[in-house]
Amino acid sequence: MRFTSPPGINEISTRSMNRRAALMGVLALGVCAATALPREQVADPPQFFHINPVRPIADLLPLALAATPPVESGEFRAADLVELTTLDPTIRLDIRYATTRNFLSTPLYSQARAFMQRPAAEAVVRVQRALAREGYGLLVYDAYRPWYVTKLFWDATPADKHNFVADPATGSRHNRGCAVDLTLYDLQTGRVADMPSLYDEMSERAYPTFAGGTPEQRRLRDFLRRHMEAEGFAVYEYEWWHFDYRDWSSYAIQNTRFEAIGTHR
Ligand SMILES: [Zn+2]
Repeated sequence: MRFTSPPGINEISTRSMNRRAALMGVLALGVCAATALPREQVADPPQFFHINPVRPIADLLPLALAATPPVESGEFRAADLVELTTLDPTIRLDIRYATTRNFLSTPLYSQARAFMQRPAAEAVVRVQRALAREGYGLLVYDAYRPWYVTKLFWDATPADKHNFVADPATGSRHNRGCAVDLTLYDLQTGRVADMPSLYDEMSERAYPTFAGGTPEQRRLRDFLRRHMEAEGFAVYEYEWWHFDYRDWSSYAIQNTRFEAIGTHR
């Protein structure tokens, strides 16, 4: 992927750098002296954003699993988590937290699955159908996320990057099964859309209002947002890929692992 850095900073290409150089370049907002490799050596490597955890994940995971989600008061709807691909198999998945291709470079989910509360999931399916009429489909990076994973993200992330991860004291809307991280793919070519930033990139390029990048990158980002908004989703102010469903506050924080959800129809 090529992206244009903020004004005054040289353009860099993550495709032309190894992962570490890409990380450093991104963290430095493009101020990077990495030497570009010849194009034939850099055919489509996996691309993802990475941070160095403040403590090893192996140390943090048992603490997160042993912790208790915040107690919430009020009335909530019963959880009804359904699997997106069961409702519509044309929705593609790239569940990064089930792989090493995520910002912590460690699998955090044991299964690559995407669940949401039923009304939110059905809204995503309507977006998928509307997009199909325009030649695009949705590729989901993450949907329902057990609370312990949110705690682990927070504990692993440096404090100056905490605006990119949810505070476990209040939980993430992902924990409620009402948030989804996604992008577009081209139905004809299968190619994933080139957006202004990488998924989970902790930089201003991730902001849905970022004015840099190419016009085509911004067009696709805004096209995705319009379609999601039309079905009751709101984009997160720091992440073009993150959308909250309007009824998120009706659902309590969940800490159920994927294995325990089973399949619903
Ligand atoms: Zn998200």
